[in-house]
Amino acid sequence: MATFLFEEIVFGPVKSRRLGVSLGINLLPVDAKVCSFDCVYCECGTNKEHRGGKLPNSSEVLNALESKLKEMQSNHEAPDVITFAGNGEPTLHPEFATIIDETLRLRDAYFPKANVSVLSNATQLGSPRVFEALKRVDQAILKLDSAHPKTIALLDRPVSSAFNVEKLVEQLKAFNGKLIVQTLFTRGQYGGQHFDNTTEEEIADWIGLLRQIRPESVMIYTIDRDTPIQHIEKIPLEALQQIAKRVEDEAHISVSVAG
Ligand code: SF4
Repeated sequence: MATFLFEEIVFGPVKSRRLGVSLGINLLPVDAKVCSFDCVYCECGTNKEHRGGKLPNSSEVLNALESKLKEMQSNHEAPDVITFAGNGEPTLHPEFATIIDETLRLRDAYFPKANVSVLSNATQLGSPRVFEALKRVDQAILKLDSAHPKTIALLDRPVSSAFNVEKLVEQLKAFNGKLIVQTLFTRGQYGGQHFDNTTEEEIADWIGLLRQIRPESVMIYTIDRDTPIQHIEKIPLEALQQIAKRVEDEAHISVSVAG
């Protein structure tokens, strides 16, 4: 299916389903994908089909960001959020922490009311520099697609065999509530294996982890654009809303739903 790559370091602003008017920052190559997961639903395609590319350095990122912020300021166009997303996992960038601090400085100078958000798969939380940088942003939006290692292996396909859900939960708890958990719900088939993170057992165990992590909120969503594989389902909005209600009733955590 037709997946796509972001072809710029700074992209948008775009109207995001989850975040509002979002100015995007892609810390990954503009012609390749670099990620520590290889999710079956990734809109950028598989890691294998988009290898190579060169990471932008911090000066390239910050110059591109400042020139876009100047342009938006002169057009009286304010972003709700500056979002680190793009062609893979932003926290893999070796200068991630420095870029975050400089972005916070530029945000304060140009659009102090805008949030700085990072969409991350949470695989690099073992790095103190990444963990501390994520604690400094307004919204660290961290992926937890399932409580079950087998489902994560099928759905998110971690590149490293060292990925461990129990360790991840301990790392997420260390944010002391200053994080947003993001979860994509889907079901389907890949490589002869069935995956479904919407079953009763999946939802009950996932809510159990949310009760331990106590994030300030949860974002749930489903596939929106083309994915690398064919046999994958979009979950109906009503089903997502039922999941959200369960989280609110059982864990008392607010949930936003993007169908
Ligand atoms: S974590 Fe995000 S960028 Fe990485 S493979 Fe999954 S969806 Fe794609």
